[in-house]
Amino acid sequence: MITQIDHIGIAVRDIEASMQMYSKIFGVESFHREQVPTQGVDVASFELNGVRIELTAALSETSPIATFIAKRGEGIHHVAFRTDAIQSDLDRLGADGVRLVHTEPQVGAHEMLIAFMHPSSTGGVLMELCSPKH
Ligand code: ZN
Repeated sequence: MITQIDHIGIAVRDIEASMQMYSKIFGVESFHREQVPTQGVDVASFELNGVRIELTAALSETSPIATFIAKRGEGIHHVAFRTDAIQSDLDRLGADGVRLVHTEPQVGAHEMLIAFMHPSSTGGVLMELCSPKH
């Protein structure tokens, strides 16, 4: 079951510059830093009352973030919803005709299991499901 917003992913060109900007706006003192080579991303994140903001830069030109920025520029990339049963939610959504980027969960940042729905099925919003890896 999908229970809450987990994080908002923001595509950025320059992660250091973005961290400085977010520090200025929110007074963030430290970011969680992580690279996820399998997803092609460099991540800096912080949390606001249980909702993470993930600044995400491309690790290479073939990264999905590089493609996104080339097409649409910097900005909100995806909204991630936490679920307590990621595989059964994916099965349910797939059976309901929602186009899935991943039919099985992948490992993302924060050791979370993640899977994306295709924005063509979700009104143009790239939605991610995520669940802590047990
Ligand atoms: Zn995400």
